[in-house]
Amino acid sequence: MKEVNKEPFIHLFSCSTGYYLYDVNTDSILKVTPDTYQRLEKRENIEENEQIRKLKKYGYLKTSHVQISEHPVTKLLPSLYENRIGNLTLQVTQQCNLRCDYCVYSGKYYTRTHSNKRMSFEMAKKGLDFLLSHSSACEELRVGFYGGEPLLEFELIKRCVEYMETQTKDKAIHYQITTNGTLLKGEILTYLIEKKFEITISFDGPKEIHDRYRKFAGSDKGSYDTVMQNARYIKEHYHNFFISNVTFNTVISPEESYSCIGNYFKGEELFQDAVFTSGLVKDEGKKEKNTVSDRFSEEYQYEYFKLLMSKLGKIRKENTSVLGREQVEFLKMLRGGKQQDEDIELPKNGIMVAHVYQGSEVYL
Ligand code: SF4
Repeated sequence: MKEVNKEPFIHLFSCSTGYYLYDVNTDSILKVTPDTYQRLEKRENIEENEQIRKLKKYGYLKTSHVQISEHPVTKLLPSLYENRIGNLTLQVTQQCNLRCDYCVYSGKYYTRTHSNKRMSFEMAKKGLDFLLSHSSACEELRVGFYGGEPLLEFELIKRCVEYMETQTKDKAIHYQITTNGTLLKGEILTYLIEKKFEITISFDGPKEIHDRYRKFAGSDKGSYDTVMQNARYIKEHYHNFFISNVTFNTVISPEESYSCIGNYFKGEELFQDAVFTSGLVKDEGKKEKNTVSDRFSEEYQYEYFKLLMSKLGKIRKENTSVLGREQVEFLKMLRGGKQQDEDIELPKNGIMVAHVYQGSEVYL
């Protein structure tokens, strides 16, 4: 049988403003005296310290640890699988009209590479039928299209949407697509707007940076001008749709200037009020790891620090980078359900998720 840990479940840390402990059971950060800190660190003569006695009296320094990790919905999985599968993403093609330098399908990763494989309607229908027959408890359904560049298979996407419309009368269906934005025009654009698609456009910032990474297949030509032209057209002619249904995803190379990319988005009229997600060029599964410049590290950490300060109300949101805002929102969301309560104690059977996010560890 696993030995039970009798030590207080805490993490100690110090910085220029003093000595602290993070109390895991109550999810609290507490400032302590240097003497308390040292005793807790060495686990020596703990009971002789007045502050430690007080902390225990108020419910801190509990020793409870999760002993069995089990997701709260584990027992519900059979039912969820049968009735609550509300999302389906179809990878409709492995082909793409771009050849982005950092693409996970570029051959630089231990994964598949671009190919001419495309999904048949029969295969897509199998997926859609599975969704339809396993979602009786869902009020709405979501169908996503992914690639390669999914809009290369526009006819297939249309058939899938039409099929879903004939099969579902009582549920709202939301469609989502992640695209490089080069084909977002004409009949394709009109159709996506008519069907209220949520569109995520990949876009990397200033022309010289975007074009360095996101080039057309078989050429040295960057895709910046094409994507900008299409996005501007949508904003100009379908403003409400642009604001409510279009988001941008930025992949950031750690060889570039983080501040330069952030400043570009702040200054470019097209992106005012736009919603962004962003992430670094993936390192996992890459044959040669990313090189991170000192400048990038400094700028990245500084901007992240500013975002946290703005969340604390110390600086104005307008003075922070648009990049990374959604990550801070996500952190806030993770912390949102937690409250300080001296009676809080970790259950023996439960879940402890170590979520590593931009260097922060969050325990749920
Ligand atoms: S658009 Fe997407 S799928 Fe196509 S090459 Fe670029 S990253 Fe890869």
